[in-house]
Amino acid sequence: DIRPLVAGNWKMNGLRASAAEFGAMIEGYDDDLKERVDLMICPPSTLVMAFSQIALQSSLSVGGQDCHAKDSGAHTGDISAGMMADSGAAAVIVGHSERRQDHGETDEMVRAKAEAAWRAGLTAIVCVGETEAERKDDKTLERIGAQLAGSIPDGAMAARMIVAYEPVWAIGTGMTPTAKDVAEVHGFIRERLKDRFGEEGARTRVLYGGSVKPSNAVELMAVANVDGALVGGASLKASDFLAIAEAY
Ligand code: 13P
Repeated sequence: DIRPLVAGNWKMNGLRASAAEFGAMIEGYDDDLKERVDLMICPPSTLVMAFSQIALQSSLSVGGQDCHAKDSGAHTGDISAGMMADSGAAAVIVGHSERRQDHGETDEMVRAKAEAAWRAGLTAIVCVGETEAERKDDKTLERIGAQLAGSIPDGAMAARMIVAYEPVWAIGTGMTPTAKDVAEVHGFIRERLKDRFGEEGARTRVLYGGSVKPSNAVELMAVANVDGALVGGASLKASDFLAIAEAY
């Protein structure tokens, strides 16, 4: 009875002209789909304000892809959670593996960003996931456990927290874990949430991300403890994104 969410992470893609594609998503998000699933698009920061305005009359929400841990100050090029909220974002992704890799973000930094998101009234979408080497070494659950413990602040509640499980080796590769492997990790995440935050915290949505496509969405979304998807490449096209949402 956890309401599912299909969120699109556009990463470093999208220009003003992409508003047409975004508009097609809003158009396709009909009453029937609205009954079954929440939808969100996280465009690059440059488009958050424009997309939020386009989505004003719609229930499709807009999110950011990152925020700074501080509320303001001398941090050239950075964007605060308050700025994201002010631009119309309802949520912000923190700790995506591309940020962890490209910008050296640690669990501690991700946790501080999630806290900044909460201070700004945003939902924090905290990403975790093992590398290919960690999976081969049978270190997946150990790694995910450490990331959850380090990246999720105290006081997490389902209303302002979302966890995204994104195996690094599945992102943009076309490879996905088996349904059994997804079930194992998502079940483990649910248990950890319950241990630390109780029944209410355990109602936090746990999304799967990594090469989700229309062709595999039904199978992946049917796995126990999968409450939706965080979609990269396939979220850039309205037809693909909506087809994934149709898995619900
Ligand atoms: P792809 O769907 O392109 O594999 O990306 C997944 C992702 O990283 C979403 O945040």
